[in-house]
Amino acid sequence: MTGLETALPKQAWLWIYRKTLLIMGVSVAASVVATVVFMGTFSAGVNLPGLVIAIILPIALGGPMTLIFAIGTEKMRHANDQLGRLATLDGLTGLFNRRAFTAAVEKHCASPHRQGVLLVIDADHFKSVNDRFGHDQGDEALRDIAHALELTVGRRGLSGRLGGEEFGVYLPDADLGRAEGMADEIRRSINHIDFTPEGVACPLSVSIGGAYHNRPAPFRELYRAADEWLYSAKQQGRDRVALPQAA
Ligand code: GH3
Ligand code: MG
Ligand code: MG
Repeated sequence: MTGLETALPKQAWLWIYRKTLLIMGVSVAASVVATVVFMGTFSAGVNLPGLVIAIILPIALGGPMTLIFAIGTEKMRHANDQLGRLATLDGLTGLFNRRAFTAAVEKHCASPHRQGVLLVIDADHFKSVNDRFGHDQGDEALRDIAHALELTVGRRGLSGRLGGEEFGVYLPDADLGRAEGMADEIRRSINHIDFTPEGVACPLSVSIGGAYHNRPAPFRELYRAADEWLYSAKQQGRDRVALPQAA
């Protein structure tokens, strides 16, 4: 989901009603106390009509205003939350964008005593997909690749679009053996995409390079190493995984 949702969720409505009731309760209590003190001081004491007015007035005058104000504030907060979330997503695929992906990986990589693997995944001969079927169909292929990535990686890692036809997957706490298995699963899942623009079968494939760390490492260092292995996968013929050997 990459669009803005304007409807407030049920949880927000509960919060609005609770907040309105609380403000009304406090207002009625203050109004009753003020009426009792005022009538006790300046007249013969509190009476029933005085009390009824002290209760009804704040509800009748302040109730609708408080409700409208609470709804407005909650809508603003909801829109802010969504904008914050949208700013982390790639508009085409709905995966994390490069900035959010990099920040999340940096965060994990900064912790001492943690290992992990960064995979850089690049669609093969993608220019020819655009040349043959047009940019819109190329976009469709990128969405299909992103979907396959999400399904394959799931909760086992973090997926993002690094830009163009290049994607990143970070596998926290993985070693090279596990990463190789996952990378090959990804590669095969993309081979299995049924992409048939204009009724013409167009097989998709990716090449994957990876880099491993077992100490704090900046993203750009990991990326540079993974990109070198990606280059090697391309050189070897594409549609393959290239990773450093486990020590
Ligand atoms: P290689 O196997 O060496 O990676 O070949 P390639 O054709 O994939 O690589 P190249 O760098 O020559 O071309 C990348 C292509 O990806 C060209 C560009 O138009 C296309 N591309 C990049 N971003 C997008 C996008 O957002 N949508 C579409 N449809 N195409 C894109
Ligand atoms: Mg490419
Ligand atoms: Mg590329």
